[in-house]
Amino acid sequence: MTISKALEAAYLVGRLERLARSGVTVEGLNPAQWEALRYLARANRFSRTPAALADYVGSTRGTISQTLIALEQKGLAARRASARDGRSVELALTRRGEAVLKQDPLLHLAQDIALGTDDDPAKLVTTLQAILAATIARNEGRAFGVCHSCRHFRRNARPGASSPHHCGLLDEPLSEADSKDICQEQEAAA
Ligand code: SF4
Repeated sequence: MTISKALEAAYLVGRLERLARSGVTVEGLNPAQWEALRYLARANRFSRTPAALADYVGSTRGTISQTLIALEQKGLAARRASARDGRSVELALTRRGEAVLKQDPLLHLAQDIALGTDDDPAKLVTTLQAILAATIARNEGRAFGVCHSCRHFRRNARPGASSPHHCGLLDEPLSEADSKDICQEQEAAA
């Protein structure tokens, strides 16, 4: 691909992102608030903090604080003392937040992607993951990858337990649901 084709692809990604959210008004949510809701729905219990959210979206702590205040005022997210460390704050979606996410404008984009790839988006996902990895590396950010693809993930360390997997880094049990969440500490397995 030549540079000009790469630039054309960048224009397409930017335009898609804008069009996906145009004309959709749910609870008066702005793009930053949607991004925070999506993150809270996908992040594991070690990563649902204001600082991790700021890292994930590439924003400042002050901006994230304003976003979270707005979500709390709308009754879509809540903060509580962390169960692991009482001095830290843990964020969570409320039931209302989960319901609102079912109207996420990105769901329309997902339908369009399925249509545009003949219901086989795997190649596109791989390409986008590679592009995202390059962008994250340039920004010296964290990957926030999926737990089961982490080098610290120990599958079935406790067979038969309700949380059969284990995190070798944090020394914590992990359920099957945990294994599909994203994590601020994730390091891709070799
Ligand atoms: S195994 Fe990796 S991704 Fe999963 S909780 Fe531990 S550090 Fe996070």
